[in-house]
Amino acid sequence: MSENEKPNTLAVTLSKFRSALVVVAHPDDPEFLFGAAVAHLVSNQTTVTYVICTDGANGCSDPTIPAAQITATRYEEQRVAARVLGANAVVFLGFPDGLLAPTAALREAIAREIRRHKPDLILTHYPRRVLELPIEASHPDHLATGEATLSAVSPDAGNIRAFPQLLEEGLQPHRVSEVWVAGHDRSNHFIDASLFLDLKVQAILCHRSQFGGVENPVPPPWIYFWMKWAGSKAGYEYAESYTRIVM
Ligand SMILES: [Zn+2]
Repeated sequence: MSENEKPNTLAVTLSKFRSALVVVAHPDDPEFLFGAAVAHLVSNQTTVTYVICTDGANGCSDPTIPAAQITATRYEEQRVAARVLGANAVVFLGFPDGLLAPTAALREAIAREIRRHKPDLILTHYPRRVLELPIEASHPDHLATGEATLSAVSPDAGNIRAFPQLLEEGLQPHRVSEVWVAGHDRSNHFIDASLFLDLKVQAILCHRSQFGGVENPVPPPWIYFWMKWAGSKAGYEYAESYTRIVM
């Protein structure tokens, strides 16, 4: 752990970010992967915006429910969860759930949001499969989002010649200063999740459709297990872990 990432310098490290964009595949990914980081950023006056790439329509085990209904439920759950953590806004890109690929269309859509919101910091998925972690972590939509987001950061958002229609929309190039990538087993950056543990779990449970739709869902033990595992690497009781890319 470097000097910058010790707990007593965390506030200083975070306070340099005026705006952060959380770019993820599915409704509920921001809370599971970045809930504590979002809470820390918001408490440091950073404006946090979510970009959700897919419509979340595969996140239901009942084949009789129309896809549009599932999407509407999941979008509303995501808006509520974002408010719990203090995020400023949620943008839904609406690509079909389960079929995401790092296409030019996805890169352009993400680059558009980067140029619109001008974030200093981006939080997103790791773009490659990690065989050492549970297979669910390497959902193909996560890999595609990670790859498309990193491509949107560099070169797309910062290159004036990339996606010329963005310029026609009045969106000037923007350069991001940092990216934090989650879902890697060899992370080099840790955020203390202990202080905001209850808030993070409360936000996760806003996604009631993912917990059987019951009124008061119980958090599954694995939520705590993975945060404890990350914390054990960094001297925290609970942590979120990332690979930090500084531009
Ligand atoms: Zn996901």
